Amino acid sequence: MTTVSTSAGPAAAVDDVLRRQDPAIADLLAGERQRQATGLQLIAAENFTSPAVLAALGSPLANKYAEGYPGARHHGGCEYADLAERIAAERATALFGCDHANVQPHSGSAAVLAAYAALLRPGDTVLAMGLAYGGHLTHGSPANFSGRWFEFVGYGVDAESGLVDYEQVAALARRHRPKAIVCGSISYPRHLDYAAFRAIADEVGAYLIADAAHPIGLVAGGAAPSPVPYADIVCATTHKVLRGPRGGMVLCGAELADRVDRAVFPFTQGGAQMHTIAAKAVAFGEAAGPAYTAYAHQVVTNARVLAEALAGEGLHLTTGGTDTHLITADPAPLGVDGRTARGRLAAAGMVLDTCALPYGDQRGLRLGTAAVTTQGMGRAEMARIAELFGAALRGDGAVRDRVEELTGRFPPYPPE
Ligand SMILES: *Cc1c(COP(=O)(O)O)cnc(C)c1O
Repeated sequence: MTTVSTSAGPAAAVDDVLRRQDPAIADLLAGERQRQATGLQLIAAENFTSPAVLAALGSPLANKYAEGYPGARHHGGCEYADLAERIAAERATALFGCDHANVQPHSGSAAVLAAYAALLRPGDTVLAMGLAYGGHLTHGSPANFSGRWFEFVGYGVDAESGLVDYEQVAALARRHRPKAIVCGSISYPRHLDYAAFRAIADEVGAYLIADAAHPIGLVAGGAAPSPVPYADIVCATTHKVLRGPRGGMVLCGAELADRVDRAVFPFTQGGAQMHTIAAKAVAFGEAAGPAYTAYAHQVVTNARVLAEALAGEGLHLTTGGTDTHLITADPAPLGVDGRTARGRLAAAGMVLDTCALPYGDQRGLRLGTAAVTTQGMGRAEMARIAELFGAALRGDGAVRDRVEELTGRFPPYPPE
């Protein structure tokens, strides 16, 4: 055999097959690859998974049906599926220091659904961050199962400081006697005080569910406090800062393990996605190493530097700064609202979201440093991003080229 194997080898061969068979899809995948590489990916929930994670996702384990759990499947031929799930769960419990990890949830939302299914009955009262302040859809949106099946009470954040008001949480807990309290948010840039939430939950006899979809990747790298010692159940995603495949997981103590497992399968899901579970195992393996620890800390450093530089460009930081990968900012001082700002930034190749603000009903901007840090960007590049941000928001039409000059120096994947 004289085949030359390069790191792009197998992937390139698969790309060739797809291109011959289905050029429309091959073209759009190439376009997406280009879009991700040339723009600045600042969506706080996104990241670039490693080629190893992508390899597991694109493997024939995708073909395998594996309802049930390792050693107790409803299908035959699960010997490798069982190994993959055992390794993923062992790595997760070691990484997060918990007794039990269920790695089957298809998404962060599925993980939250499983947590509710494990602990609650329809009609139960749940106290969670209000959606207008950064609660997730699964924290009681009327458009979501959570708002339909449970009685949600929302806590807010202080309009001035943007911070969670633990006195208010405690007062609402005493008044409404919830069955569970949920702590976690899609846009809160500060560490949550899990011990304070635990004390409030204990006072009223409620379960504490931490929806750590965002910070779990920082927790894995030792760059944020862990909810594991405090919460009865921790729900998380694997694809945000954690940099694994798109998916979810549930962490808990030994006493809730059976309830959590039954809540995932058969209560809310069918067959597990074994290729994704193998990819989760790869990501947990990566996250256990020193390079990932350094990465997680750099993500936070970059967010602090970027937040400060954005304030220098005139944006208002809603909590005055950040402890995490997340930045929330109000562009109003520059004379634009969040939606207009997002549009101008998108035109310049800077992709991010709007978010709720703790005051008024204008939208702010939510961005994160997980993806740009994976690309290898550091302090100097954060300063540059803030400059480009300011220019785009002030209506400078020539920012796109400067964005591409910057991203061109930090390709997310090796060139094909
Ligand atoms: C991202 C997120 C989720 C949901 O994750 P999906 O994988 O999109 O379902 C749930 N809760 C919070 C707080 C999140 O940030």
